[in-house]
Amino acid sequence: MSAREEFSSPGAIRTIDVIRRKRDGHELLPAEIAHLVRGYTRGEIPDYQISAWLMATLLRGFTRAETAALTDSMLHSGKILDLSEFAAAKVDKHSTGGVGDNTSLILAPLAAAGGLIVPMISGRALGHTGGTLDKLESIPGLRVDLSLARFRKVLHACGCSMIGQTNEIAPADRKFYSLRDVTGTVESPHLICASIMSKKLAEGLDALVLDVKTGSGSFMKTEKDAACLAELLVETSQRMGKKTVALITDMDQPLGQRIGNSLEVEEGVDVLKGRGPADLRDLSLELAAWMFHLGGRAKTIPEGRDLADRMIRSGKALETFCKMVSLQGGDPATIEDPSRLPRAKHRSAIASARSGYVSAIQCEDVGTACVVLGGGRETKEDRVDPSVGIVLHKKVGDRVAAGEPLCTLVYNSASRAARAKKLIERSFQVADAPPLLRPLVHRVVGKPGTS
Ligand code: URA
Repeated sequence: MSAREEFSSPGAIRTIDVIRRKRDGHELLPAEIAHLVRGYTRGEIPDYQISAWLMATLLRGFTRAETAALTDSMLHSGKILDLSEFAAAKVDKHSTGGVGDNTSLILAPLAAAGGLIVPMISGRALGHTGGTLDKLESIPGLRVDLSLARFRKVLHACGCSMIGQTNEIAPADRKFYSLRDVTGTVESPHLICASIMSKKLAEGLDALVLDVKTGSGSFMKTEKDAACLAELLVETSQRMGKKTVALITDMDQPLGQRIGNSLEVEEGVDVLKGRGPADLRDLSLELAAWMFHLGGRAKTIPEGRDLADRMIRSGKALETFCKMVSLQGGDPATIEDPSRLPRAKHRSAIASARSGYVSAIQCEDVGTACVVLGGGRETKEDRVDPSVGIVLHKKVGDRVAAGEPLCTLVYNSASRAARAKKLIERSFQVADAPPLLRPLVHRVVGKPGTS
């Protein structure tokens, strides 16, 4: 029996050999990848072996064929939804992860209000970035672990539902995701692609809008790496017959002004009420416009933007969000009055040491500061504190006087706040001259008619 045949016969595969082969830079066979995904999802392979394999994968890389095999195995670890009973187009958006990036909370109800079906399967906080599920769970009572039957009912009632990976849907991603979070193995385009696509391809979508972040707060720090990830994602999704575009968008500073779970719910609700920071509102409208365009609700992007704007102004998007929250067990009164969301006990401002212009905000440090405050996880066992975070008073390009607050830490533990303060202090740079501002949307990959 050749090595290839031996590896493709499931009984013959040993986990240790697969780890070694990836460590030594070999291309794995689909059967080897399937062995790891199956074994880990069933609890037959321990965390320490998968951790070693993830690190080897991150360092050695993956071929296109290995990425496709991993995506396929992870996708088929659970069910693939059939939502053909809905006449309207099923469209979702997914971000590769950022700081203060709460557009999912805005887009699901906004797109549903405009006539699309949004069956959104999201993730938790990952590394220094926030997670939609943790943000949603800061709404008292809200459940993200719905059965598929309940998920469907919510979709029928209000056009959108937001849940996490469950035992029924993308269970492999649930396990791999939480292990990557605490083993320094997030920043691999191939692992990110398999993670995102195993959730999105399970949703029974017609179209998908991807928000690929680039800059100091993203996993793909350079434009070149972001473009490679965007192409990998678009190619994988289009190969499965989904209309797909990826917008490469800026994450060189946090999006909006609030970072932290309940703080971001509050800010997302502000946007749904027609207020909120301009960058968050503009990006949300742009992503919604693409969702409407791919879903056949708008002929052009400006038309899509206009529809999104109307859904906010009319109050329909906010109404849809309140309805979804209530159907998922949450208290809609907290949406009408966000002061009822969990609030941390203490606040402490961090002032600028000098006058000038904010020239840069090291965005990963700001995200890590939020994790350190308790807004994310440092180990798998950590419980997320929904109430803590950071409120920015200055963003890149703003003038600041010496002694004026740059941001405020919102916290429950003084020792955590002291650690976070050190990170924040080094993350803000103030210079004499105003910096060049980066665009919010760098470019679009996979535009219809260009691929
Ligand atoms: N979002 C995901 O769902 N998975 C990743 O790996 C990164 C961002």
